[in-house]
Amino acid sequence: MPERTTTVVIGAGHAGLAASHFLRARAIDHVVLERGDVANSWRRERWDSLRLLTPNWQSRLPGHRYRGPDPDGYMTMGEVVEFIDHFAALSHAPVRTNTNVKSVHRTDDGYDVSTDRGEIRCRTVVIASGACNLPAVPRLHEGVPATVEQITPFGYRGAEALPDGGVLVVGASATGVQLAAEIQRSGRPVTLSTGEHVRLPRTYRGRDVLWWMEAARVWEERYDEVPDIDRARRLASPQLAGIRETLDINALCAMGVEPVGRAATVRDGELLFSGGLRNVISLADLKMDRLLTTFDQWAMTSQKDSDVKPPERFEPTRVPASTRLRLDLRSGEIRTIVWATGFRPDHTWLDVPVVDEKGHLNHDGGIVDSPGLYALGLPVLRRRKSTFIHGIEDDAREVIDHLTRYLAVRH
Ligand SMILES: Cc1cc2nc3c(=O)[nH]c(=O)nc-3n(C[C@H](O)[C@H](O)[C@H](O)COP(=O)(O)OP(=O)(O)OC[C@H]3O[C@@H](n4cnc5c(N)ncnc54)[C@H](O)[C@@H]3O)c2cc1C
Repeated sequence: MPERTTTVVIGAGHAGLAASHFLRARAIDHVVLERGDVANSWRRERWDSLRLLTPNWQSRLPGHRYRGPDPDGYMTMGEVVEFIDHFAALSHAPVRTNTNVKSVHRTDDGYDVSTDRGEIRCRTVVIASGACNLPAVPRLHEGVPATVEQITPFGYRGAEALPDGGVLVVGASATGVQLAAEIQRSGRPVTLSTGEHVRLPRTYRGRDVLWWMEAARVWEERYDEVPDIDRARRLASPQLAGIRETLDINALCAMGVEPVGRAATVRDGELLFSGGLRNVISLADLKMDRLLTTFDQWAMTSQKDSDVKPPERFEPTRVPASTRLRLDLRSGEIRTIVWATGFRPDHTWLDVPVVDEKGHLNHDGGIVDSPGLYALGLPVLRRRKSTFIHGIEDDAREVIDHLTRYLAVRH
C-alpha cells in the first residue's frame, strides 16, 4: 500500500523549507522530499568562489535571519548551506534526503508521487524543486569545433581547472561577469560576449544598492502589477558580485577583459557576434540611471534624503570604438567557452499537463493549472523578489494559505 500524507513538498532548498514552515504552522501533515541533502544546489551545483550577491543582513527566512558579526558581508557557499541547514533544524522540517521524485501523476483525489524509495499518495503537492536545475545553453554551441572545450557554471569549479589560453565567456549577467573577472585574474585572457544585461553599481549614495532596492520597494512589485510579466520573468540577473566593488563592463575592461556583442551563430568554425553591443550597453546605462532616479525620488518623498550621501551618477560604459564581429574558433586563440547564458528548471518528472512547449510551468502566482498543485521559487512567481532568499517568506505564506483554503473547501 502506498504511504499517504496530505501534502508532498518537492525540494529542500530554502523554498521547500519555507513551504514546510507554513504547512507546519497550519498543522498540515506533510513531507519534504529531497534528492540530495538540504540546500543541495548550494552544496553541489555552484562554483567554489561564489558568494551571495545579497548582503548578509538581507538573508532571512521565516523566523530565521542572519545575526552574525558582518551584516554587510556576503556569504560563502559553506555559510549559505549552514544558514539553510539551521533553518531546516529550527523549523523541524520533515525532510527525507536522498529521495528522488521520479514522477507525479494526478489521481481522483490528489496526486501520486513516485520516488526511488517508494510511492506516496497525497492531496496536494508543492513544487519547490528550483528554477536553476539545468544550464540554458543556446543551440549554436553545437557548431563549436571539438578542439574548444565547452563548460557551463555547473561544470565550473575554478579558473585553475581550465586549459591555459583564451576563454570566451558568453553572457554578461551576474554569473558571466563574476566568472569573467575570476578567469581573467588567473592569467587567461577573457573575451566577454554581451547581450542584454542589467548594470548596477554595488553601492549608491553610500549604501548597498540592494538596500535601495529594498527601501524603495522595487522588488516588492507584484506579478499581477508588472506591465510585461513574460519579459520580467526572463530578465537577466544584475551585474553584481558578493564583493564591495562594482563589477560592470567598465570594471572588467579595466582588468583587460575584451567585450564583444551577443553570440549570434557559428559558421564554418567562426563564431559571429551581433553588431549591437553599443545599443545594449546604452540601454543598460539608461535603465540604471532611471533606477537611480527612482531611488532619489523615494529618498525625497520619504524624508530619507539627509540620511544618505548626495545623488551621484556613474560614468557611462566605455564602449570600444570597434569591437570584433567574428572569432575564428579553429585558430587556437580560444581554448574554452563558458556558457553563462542562464539556467532553467527541470520539470521532466511532472506527468501532469501543466508545462508549456518552452518548459515553463503554467501557473498564476504559484497556483498551478491543476487543482491542488502549487509552485514556489520560480522567477517573479508572486513578486520580483520571488527567487531570492529574502523573497520566499511572503510568497510561501500566500501559496500555503491558498493550499489551506483548497483543502478546507475540497475535503
Ligand atoms: C549562481 C546563483 C547565484 C545565486 N545567488 C543568489 C544570492 O546571492 N542571493 C539570493 O537570495 N539568491 C541567489 N540565487 C537565487 C536562489 O536563491 C537560488 O537559486 C536558490 O537555490 C533557490 O532556492 P530554491 O529552494 O527555490 O531552489 P533550490 O535551492 O535549487 O532547491 C531545490 C531543491 O530541489 C531538489 N530537487 C530538484 N528536483 C528534485 C526531484 N525530482 N526530487 C527530489 N528533489 C529534487 C534539489 O536537489 C534542490 O535541493 C542564486 C542562484 C544561482 C543559480
